[in-house]
Amino acid sequence: MQKLRSITVRAPAKVNMQLTVGGRRNDGYHELANVFLAVSCFDEITLTPADRLHLTVSGRGTAQVPIDDSNLAAQAVKLLAKKGGVDPGVHIHIDKRIPIQGGMGGGSADAAAALVGCNALWNLGLDRPGLLSLAAELGSDVPFAVLGGAALGTGRGERLIPLTGSGALHWVFAIAPFGLSTPEVYGAEERRRRQAGLPSTADLMPSPKASQRLLDAFARGDVGALAQTLSNDLEPVALSLRPKLAATLATGKDAGALAGMLCGTGATTAFLVPDARGAQRVADALLASGTCASVQIAHGPVPGPSPEETTATG
Ligand code: ATP
Repeated sequence: MQKLRSITVRAPAKVNMQLTVGGRRNDGYHELANVFLAVSCFDEITLTPADRLHLTVSGRGTAQVPIDDSNLAAQAVKLLAKKGGVDPGVHIHIDKRIPIQGGMGGGSADAAAALVGCNALWNLGLDRPGLLSLAAELGSDVPFAVLGGAALGTGRGERLIPLTGSGALHWVFAIAPFGLSTPEVYGAEERRRRQAGLPSTADLMPSPKASQRLLDAFARGDVGALAQTLSNDLEPVALSLRPKLAATLATGKDAGALAGMLCGTGATTAFLVPDARGAQRVADALLASGTCASVQIAHGPVPGPSPEETTATG
């Protein structure tokens, strides 16, 4: 039996501690001020040389994950192979733990892991800036998924300034029994702005800015102050699309969360809690309430994906 070198990469999910949505640009993207935090909820990607590019999935919600060329991890492999001038023959296996359509950047995490993993598998030697520029071609959230830790993203979220925090932040994520698609949420926000007579294009709106209070609280590790500065501009419109999320938010806050918010474009909700014990209390209350399908306790920041070599038998 032949031994194949394979690479396994853990890909962390993200939560947006701030998501401020500015105007829509000519290319259709919105200007953002996006404070990302990578958290300890991981997909695991295994990459094994194969005679052709193919993909399998196990774990959570596998039916909703495409296994064709539209999977972001497959797109990442193809892009890197083209850039490196190598054959893209690889078997990508994704063990899914990050909620699908949850606003936690699962597809972007898988794409980042595939880039970092195949860079190692094929000994391409691409450096961090090289990987980040390929990541930006794949999607707005993919560069942060390569970087990990914490960062301020501007532009459409791809221009990153890494942030240094102080200590671990504890979170509980309530996974909804339904998803929310990113285009659906941005589309509804556009309609809301139009109906309210608000400007909606980037040329008519100021560039969104990071909250200095949030950045300071994060740098100091002042969880109480941080909780008061968390914000997500898309939460009201997501609540109008999925009104049941209001009960989830109320349950987490009543159970002692310092803050509760929509995670990215949803439909996961995120609760910042003071410590690990508080996390368990909030998680128990959320589960008992029946206002969500499942819960996940996590901490952040955690580092971005890094490849680990394993040997598979083929
Ligand atoms: P976003 O980055 O848009 O906020 P999300 O975190 O809300 O995304 P994802 O789980 O990343 O949601 O998936 C959004 C959609 O992307 C899915 O419905 C699916 O059709 C598609 N998709 C492509 N590749 C993947 C992947 N590797 N994992 C999950 N979904 C993927």
